Amino acid sequence: MQKIILTGDRPTGRLHVGHYVGSLRRRVELQNHGDYDKIFIMIADAQALTDNFDNPEKVRQNILEVALDYLAVGLNPDISTIFIQSQIPELTELTFYYMNLVTVARLQRNPTVKSEIQLRNFEASIPVGFLCYPISQAADITAFKATTVPVGDDQLPMIEQTREIVRKFNAIYKETLVEPEALLPDNEACMRLPGTDGMAKMSKSLDNCIYLADDPKVINQKILSMYTDPLHIRVEDPGHIDGNPVFTYLEAFCKAEHFERYLPEYMNLDELKAHYQRGGLGDVKIKKFLNNILQEELEPIRLRRKEYEKDISAVYDILKAGSERAREIAAQTLSEVKNAMRINYFDDKELLYNQISNYSIK
Ligand code: ATP
Ligand code: MG
Repeated sequence: MQKIILTGDRPTGRLHVGHYVGSLRRRVELQNHGDYDKIFIMIADAQALTDNFDNPEKVRQNILEVALDYLAVGLNPDISTIFIQSQIPELTELTFYYMNLVTVARLQRNPTVKSEIQLRNFEASIPVGFLCYPISQAADITAFKATTVPVGDDQLPMIEQTREIVRKFNAIYKETLVEPEALLPDNEACMRLPGTDGMAKMSKSLDNCIYLADDPKVINQKILSMYTDPLHIRVEDPGHIDGNPVFTYLEAFCKAEHFERYLPEYMNLDELKAHYQRGGLGDVKIKKFLNNILQEELEPIRLRRKEYEKDISAVYDILKAGSERAREIAAQTLSEVKNAMRINYFDDKELLYNQISNYSIK
């Protein structure tokens, strides 16, 4: 069986360091390693419209921002097919057929949907499209027969929902779809990077992000005003690591060489943590260390983005070519799905033959 990746992002804002450690960094590694037969990267505009239907301009503008961020982190359109969800109508058609396989109660139980409904104040009246977005995600994944979906841990319930749909479809109709596996970051801190405000998740919608495209000055300001341990008031006070996003970011980004370069008086993160917990280590010092690391990591990304920004029409050409390529694959799967569901009336010679003979007997 081929090894195929599908993953993507909603064009609701520029991409941030949470996306980077949760998924983007992994995608680029997998792409460059060459272990996968095909890689599809989707800009999920149709999904973004399920909760931004009244703000289509936001979605429209952010398609380019997300595409620039992709190219900036090193996704290579010659290897990875980058496409726009809404340009593949086959995905909508698949969604419609999969809707028969899922109950409303099951969607309402989905923990990610539940928390997002709360976040968006949709409790009183949930748009049907929003409630159904896990089904559309199943269509996206299965259309490309993806075996692997690299995501942050907020997406696990979505992958589980997809697997259920696949099993049900294959059991009722015919073995057609492939059950995907989620591929989580191997480092706990990267599964769900917290926001700079200490909230559980860095998220475009919460405005608590360090964006990949932020200027060095902005990055520095955001880090210096980050939430830390509220009980760590004076330098000599013992500090807490749990729930302290500065340490979570260090877990996600820091390597041994960073200590050699920027903080040689410590061997590693464990030593730094121990000193903070003992007391005597100020927040400004660890924030400066984090700033050095993030500046180093984000600089090449920002510079590459600036290069692509010089030729925007080339970026749209990449998206158009990718969408055309993706559409061919999705159309092939849709045709298999329709065969399995027996709704292939005009391609099925046997159907016509049988109906003619039924009628000639009468
Ligand atoms: P929105 O607020 O519009 O939902 P978002 O910031 O949650 O935006 P998505 O486009 O929903 O971003 O997520 C894209 C991918 O990035 C998913 O795989 C998700 O798991 C991952 N991801 C998003 N935020 C984080 C985070 N803070 N830490 C780790 N991974 C994340
Ligand atoms: Mg999200």
